Amino acid sequence: MDKIASLCKRRGFVFQSSEIYGGLGSCWDYGPLGIALKKNITEAWWRDMITSREDMVGLDAAILMHPRVWEASGHLAGFTDPLVDCKKCKHRFRADQLTEQKCPDCGGELTESRNFNLMFKTFMGPVEDTASVVYLRPETAQGIFVNFQNVLNASRLKIPFGIGQIGKSFRNEITPGNFLFRTREFEQMEIEFFVKPGEDEQWHDYWKQTRFNWYLKYGLTRARLRLREHGTDELAHYAKGCADVEYEFPFGWSELEGIANRSDFDLKQHSEFSGKDLSYFNEETRERFVPYVIEPSAGVGRPLLAFLVDAYDEDTAEGEERVVLRLDPRLAPIKAAIFPLLRKAGHPEKALAIRDVLKEHFAVAYDQAGSIGRRYRRQDEIGTPFGITVDHDTLKDDTVTVRERDSMQQVRMPVDRLVDELRARLSVGRAGVVA
Ligand code: ATP
Repeated sequence: MDKIASLCKRRGFVFQSSEIYGGLGSCWDYGPLGIALKKNITEAWWRDMITSREDMVGLDAAILMHPRVWEASGHLAGFTDPLVDCKKCKHRFRADQLTEQKCPDCGGELTESRNFNLMFKTFMGPVEDTASVVYLRPETAQGIFVNFQNVLNASRLKIPFGIGQIGKSFRNEITPGNFLFRTREFEQMEIEFFVKPGEDEQWHDYWKQTRFNWYLKYGLTRARLRLREHGTDELAHYAKGCADVEYEFPFGWSELEGIANRSDFDLKQHSEFSGKDLSYFNEETRERFVPYVIEPSAGVGRPLLAFLVDAYDEDTAEGEERVVLRLDPRLAPIKAAIFPLLRKAGHPEKALAIRDVLKEHFAVAYDQAGSIGRRYRRQDEIGTPFGITVDHDTLKDDTVTVRERDSMQQVRMPVDRLVDELRARLSVGRAGVVA
């Protein structure tokens, strides 16, 4: 993990928030390469889960919501972690994560556990009183539930269908840590899939499999991925069943995504608290019912960290040690780098002209600094799948050398075939799956 965190900072994937002021606990900023990787992940999710499906639509709800939403959802009363403090060293822990009733750091005596609400509270308007309290949403899901009727009326969708959303969520975590794994501000990619009661279990199975396969599609190693069913003691009060997609991080097996059967809990609660009917009427069968909901709920930071950890490798290239990120080409922040072999003899001009053509189609980089080996190494380290070199022959026959990151194989190719060739090669995933 230390190697990943240091690579992330050095190459501009992730920086600590407000670093020049000493940083802010468990908040991170995505740098130029990090935002490119994050966008590729969220766009892959949006394309696969929403635009390529007839039974899904998207939504982007506001982060601030009416405070009654959090009463109805149960977050105000129940979104808490049990908190204990060490009386001696003052360190703070989640009581449910301790194996013994003493401080794991110094062995000191612990305080009684008290419940701590994870929602960030703020005020709306100029007056800071109880009437103006609002919360930063701790999950994007509620924005979907409260818009269920709006989407239904606007889109003429029929059950089963789902609404997907990507957006920021905030949790005042007591024990954040492990870099991007547990942060206080994070992004989620959530789906609420509405089904007829009685058909919920088969849809739950379907989504468990679909979401598990999504991580495989983008190249996570099969042996480091598992689907773990929750025990009945772990289930949230509203959930009929839940399974987590877990990844084996260097710090152990941990959740990337939870796929829950939330029953009809949310729509019923919001019907009751808002006084609005959130049931569904099936025109064909003349039946009215409150749909059950299957919720595949993923973060963005956790999968991003898993993709980085999985891709990280060290090997020897052209006789030199190298760090290589074997990222799936579809997720790689930069798809190809263009290098002039020399900084003279017309090489840079030709390389820049190629860069200008390719940049219309892909995220590309141009690099003329240092030996060609060092330039390859710089791109390997950030996961760029292809390196394109302009040399003497290019000026004669309009061909370039294309080097592939993982195999390091080089092929000679006409410049006018580059766009089509790269497009074809970039659409095949690391796992050999075509997009
Ligand atoms: P955990 O048990 O690890 O606290 P959770 O079960 O509370 O997670 P969910 O409420 O199911 O998490 O949230 C869905 C997804 O949102 C998680 O699988 C995770 O990817 C992401 N997520 C939740 N909390 C955080 C966080 N503090 N930092 C980063 N991602 C998070």
